[in-house]
Amino acid sequence: MKKTKQKKNTTEKRTHPCIPASDRITKKEALSMLRTADILDLGLTADNMRKRLHPEGIVSFVVDRNINYTNVCINKCTFCAFWRDEDDRDAYILDRDALFAKIEETLDLGGTQILIQGGLHPRLGIDYYIDLLRAIKERFEIDIHGFSPPEICYIADSADLTIRETLHILREAGLDSVPGGGAEILSDRVREILSPRKIKSSRWLKVMETAHLLGMRTTATMMFGSIERPEDIITHLDAIRELQDKTGGFTAFIPWSFQSGNTELIQNSKFKIQNSATAVEYLKVLALSRIYLDNIDNIQASWVTQGLKLAQVSLRFGANDFGSTMIEENVVASTGVSFRTSKHEIINTIRAAGFIPAQRDTYYNILRRWQP
Ligand code: SF4
Repeated sequence: MKKTKQKKNTTEKRTHPCIPASDRITKKEALSMLRTADILDLGLTADNMRKRLHPEGIVSFVVDRNINYTNVCINKCTFCAFWRDEDDRDAYILDRDALFAKIEETLDLGGTQILIQGGLHPRLGIDYYIDLLRAIKERFEIDIHGFSPPEICYIADSADLTIRETLHILREAGLDSVPGGGAEILSDRVREILSPRKIKSSRWLKVMETAHLLGMRTTATMMFGSIERPEDIITHLDAIRELQDKTGGFTAFIPWSFQSGNTELIQNSKFKIQNSATAVEYLKVLALSRIYLDNIDNIQASWVTQGLKLAQVSLRFGANDFGSTMIEENVVASTGVSFRTSKHEIINTIRAAGFIPAQRDTYYNILRRWQP
């Protein structure tokens, strides 16, 4: 009898001609994939990587709240609808009672973390931040994931301290980890247009490297879908991968798309932007992020910008984390995009996509899991 050849298991094999057989893809290969790969080929490859890294089929989320201590910001980025001038009627600095009430409510809902970020307020010096952190830690047992690199640099420059000294002081006062905000696209050509007053790419990376060397964990983000070119996205991914090779300090990567409402970038015709990224573009970038960042364990879906339904699809395009319940969110909401959810809805959404929902902490330790 003629022997039929056993079919080779191809689940780990990359499926597009431009997707190489080796494990780590190059910048050139990534660019080719972003430009020409079929969306389903990219999704399948990313999903296989996700399965290899997270074979149990767990999709995690954290219960937390975004707290924005001030909306006054001297940077005035063109893509941001959140900032205000100091003398604007709706400019604010959050008072302590309101802050504590928000933290209490977060803890009552089973929260383990607050994400605390704000604008660069010209009258807030390092003492404000030290007092804020100490006051929270004296009263509450909660992880403080706070102050993105532009804030860290602003605090450092105002106090005439180095980034290392500043991070050290803030950590002593209670800062646990640093969020990856303010990265946008780590290409100074793009930053010059999106946020000319913001720190350059090298300083964003320097803050993260310093935090990692001090033993702190951080996340990394990327905002795409505005004026960048595919090359800029690859430059960004490569900078993150290179730093992660060096320090291993990133817990997760969070790509999200530019939300245009109420922003100068969409309102000023000189920027020639009509729309933000489509769902297909979002999924392709998400999948490529999973494939390129082979040294970062977790990739987050962004339900805050994409909605719960597309976030659910994201779980088959490389994402293994649903981010946070975001009891409160103000920055994306100021663009007019306001998806809201609850812990219960996140659990059901993950479950309906065929995964095991699990609550995690800031460091991606699983605290509790639910039946699939
Ligand atoms: S994105 Fe951040 S730094 Fe830029 S204007 Fe908004 S609050 Fe300020």
